[in-house]
Amino acid sequence: MLLIPCPWCGPRDEPEFTYGGEPAVRPGPAADISDAQWGGYLYMRGNDKGPHREIWCHSFGCGQWFVLERDTVTHAIFSARKP
Ligand SMILES: [Zn+2]
Repeated sequence: MLLIPCPWCGPRDEPEFTYGGEPAVRPGPAADISDAQWGGYLYMRGNDKGPHREIWCHSFGCGQWFVLERDTVTHAIFSARKP
């Protein structure tokens, strides 16, 4: 089990959190992009192995969203910061 450091509450057990995915920049207005580009934004994720940046919510705590940097292989957590 991960011990995730919430930037507001401090270290808490992983079941208190909800994974929110990888941060992604939303593409331009829907009229200006193709269906493939929009589909890629909605459904395609890098799922990289190793150091990774993710969005998490302390859903059973303070309810705040934050950015967590961790290694998906070793589960080492490098930082947790406010967005
Ligand atoms: Zn919190």
